[in-house]
Amino acid sequence: MSASPHDAAAGQPLVELVGSGTPVTCADGRIVAYHDLDCAASTPSLPAVYRAVREFVPWYSSVHRGAGFKSQVSTAAYEHARASLLSFARGTDPGDDVAIICRNTTEAINHLAYRLELRPGDVVATTVAEHHANLLPWARIAQRRWIECESDGTFGLDAVTDALESSPRPRLLAITGASNVTGWMPPVTSICELAHDRGVPVAMDAAQLAPHRPIPPGPDFVAFSGHKMYAPFGAGTLIGPRSAFAEGDPFLAGGGAVDLVSTDEVIWTEPPDREEAGSPNVIGAIALDAAVAQLGRIGWDAMVSHEAVLGRRLRTGLAAIDGVRLLGPDLQTDVLAMATFTVEGMHHALLACRLAVEFGVGVRHGCFCAHPYLMRLLGLSAAEIAQARNEVLAGDRRNIPGAVRASCGIGTSSDDIDALLEAVRELAAGLPPPLSYEQHALTGDFSPVGQVPGWPQIPEHAAAACTKG
Ligand code: PMP
Repeated sequence: MSASPHDAAAGQPLVELVGSGTPVTCADGRIVAYHDLDCAASTPSLPAVYRAVREFVPWYSSVHRGAGFKSQVSTAAYEHARASLLSFARGTDPGDDVAIICRNTTEAINHLAYRLELRPGDVVATTVAEHHANLLPWARIAQRRWIECESDGTFGLDAVTDALESSPRPRLLAITGASNVTGWMPPVTSICELAHDRGVPVAMDAAQLAPHRPIPPGPDFVAFSGHKMYAPFGAGTLIGPRSAFAEGDPFLAGGGAVDLVSTDEVIWTEPPDREEAGSPNVIGAIALDAAVAQLGRIGWDAMVSHEAVLGRRLRTGLAAIDGVRLLGPDLQTDVLAMATFTVEGMHHALLACRLAVEFGVGVRHGCFCAHPYLMRLLGLSAAEIAQARNEVLAGDRRNIPGAVRASCGIGTSSDDIDALLEAVRELAAGLPPPLSYEQHALTGDFSPVGQVPGWPQIPEHAAAACTKG
């Protein structure tokens, strides 16, 4: 695909991320610059984040617990991170919201599901487009009411209204800000208005949205992860009204969450500390703080236009290749810079493996922790889904349905996209493999037969197993 001069300029990375272009080995011994097209899974660190962490480490000490100078420095830095997260998600007027610092979006949503004190019979309205992190925690106690999608993976406001108006009224609407499979962004602000008009609070999974677009006004609760926004140091956050955490048992019980404990009583402290029992991940919080500060300096306009250029190049380029099927909305719909696709006649796991081994292109394959959504996008019949289920139950993951996802971020360049497009073009046209591959029943993944010099060896049980997600 040829690019206009404007696209070529806009296709330069906005920032060189840490480790960007690291040389990796290909099967034929060539060493190529790594093309990281797996940003929707995890992003490398921003240099500013890495620097902030290195500068902080000598000052690291316990927070909220120590009287020493370094403890004071650490506590101040940790609380600064909390304030930054609040203004990142809520702007200049965070009201009486609190930012609870936790591990990631999955933990944040589990935390919320516990704290809402759902009871059997309660309904949580949610959509079939969700990541498992926004599906499974609700199912532990409540019943889920599904908002179905069309074959392109989108749904309209009518479907949301139906779910909100059915009886009994939902305790919560849990919805993604952006799909990790199609990049589609439901109209969250309008959805929140519909929910609030009916007295239903909204929790938004912002794991994908937060690194790419401003958090829209509306959702009562917001969760996101540092490792998807250039701060891969193990922290994420749950943001919501203080009142939601003011009463009742915290998700985790232990030190740091209490005012007073006797052998038969506990007096919990105020949120957010009440919600953060145990020693927190201070380094992770410092990293997140630095990430939101640096994203603020880069600015949404620059990020959105950079990713729009890359996303267009990626999606139109893939759509033009014979045998490629793009999943999700049409090319005119505004989606995040990602593409999920299949190549006719080629297993998704083999395609991802060959992209890595023969071309140095890193993508993800499988179901992307969104099984219900992927089954719908692939248009599978009930019989096909049942067969996959039976095989998985028998310990054979080879035929799990799936696709390949390429995803971009601020460190992606048009060269990365072009490397993927050229590789997919060759593979879809039947490029013979330069070596033999074998598939593993335990994981469904492929790997080269024998040792490729320089290629990492991992035990089978720990292999990528994208199909597990
Ligand atoms: N929601 C979405 C939309 C995601 O893409 C992901 C990560 N793939 C998650 C939730 C879970 O995030 P984490 O693994 O950081 O908990």
